[in-house]
Amino acid sequence: MPQADRRWNKGWTRRDVLRCMGGAALGALGAAAAGREILSGLWRWAEAAESPEDRKSTIDVQAEERFRVTAACLLLTPYRDENLTHHRPHPMRAAALEAVEPFEDHPCAKLFREWGAFGSKFYTLAAWLTPSPPFRWLLPFCEVTGRTISAYEVEKFDLEARYPTLLTSFREEARLPELWASTQAEWEEVCEQCRRGLERYDVEGWMESFWGPAPKRLVLVPNPTDPPSFGFAPSNPREAFCIIGPPAVPRSAPEELAAKQFDYGSTPSTASLAVHEFGHTLIDAAADELSKAAKETEDIGKRLELKDWFPRMYPDWRSQLCEMILRAVQCVWRAETVSRESADEVIEAETQRFGIEPLPLIYQLFREERQAGKTVGPSGCVKLARRALTQFSKQCSADD
Ligand SMILES: [Zn+2]
Repeated sequence: MPQADRRWNKGWTRRDVLRCMGGAALGALGAAAAGREILSGLWRWAEAAESPEDRKSTIDVQAEERFRVTAACLLLTPYRDENLTHHRPHPMRAAALEAVEPFEDHPCAKLFREWGAFGSKFYTLAAWLTPSPPFRWLLPFCEVTGRTISAYEVEKFDLEARYPTLLTSFREEARLPELWASTQAEWEEVCEQCRRGLERYDVEGWMESFWGPAPKRLVLVPNPTDPPSFGFAPSNPREAFCIIGPPAVPRSAPEELAAKQFDYGSTPSTASLAVHEFGHTLIDAAADELSKAAKETEDIGKRLELKDWFPRMYPDWRSQLCEMILRAVQCVWRAETVSRESADEVIEAETQRFGIEPLPLIYQLFREERQAGKTVGPSGCVKLARRALTQFSKQCSADD
């Protein structure tokens, strides 16, 4: 079995497979043949025993083929120009761009442009593909759409039939395996830099101590060809991904410094992004509580004067609240592993920049809980954030 498939084996239990099969039996309708193939794959994953270390919150770092091919195709869309006005592209991007440029008219590239050019949609789809080519959906397509992409306005059957096939053929026609082979040392180096970055700031240990054991396999995927500093957190039922673009290196940085700044492990930023992006998956265990808290505090949300790209990126109060919680979590991690001062600076800067005024109070309550030596966990985060919002609201009334 190829390496990627063996890794993918980790952690599936017979119960998961039976649950998937149940869903498939109800919903497979038109996709019986493809469904059978996928289900036999699920059985294969289930054969791998769940050992105790699988349940620990370790983070695997790897270049994931489904995301790497997606990123290469995104280089043929306007997405490739994001965040490059003031930042340099990663040195690995040039070779990828050269390889894919002649395939601008490939139907996969056309499809990407047709569906909108931003990365998150395509990485979400990629998370539901098999890890190795030829790509197929991990679950019957109806299950995938039910869970993740129903909101996307794409023709269901068009997407079902064309997407994995087109991505697979794009990979072959653009000869991406040859590119990966010729740049293998660079890919390995980038993964190694990420591992160093995670280890240096104890991300695995810290996340377990803050959230408790992770419910899914955590995989960090560096995507050096992406726009600088971009991060995404797609997941499927068994895996949570943190996809990270290259570090943001200013165009003004002198050449000799730039090479050093492109090192994913040289600053706390990789670790910080991992804490944030995995946080999206980890807080999901309290998704209902978060929805309830957002509903109860909607008036507070309406009073905030949000600024910069924050309200555009997070258009509803629930996602704004979730972002504040995760930014507070990120700064708790920063205070405990980097420095208290730098955490306070980030809290201050983000509050000012985005107008997210309850952030310092949420952060403060999280810090107090941690100083009492506690694992906060998903429900704990929502409860404390709820309490912070009540305090914030009282402060505002007193000021009025
Ligand atoms: Zn976020």
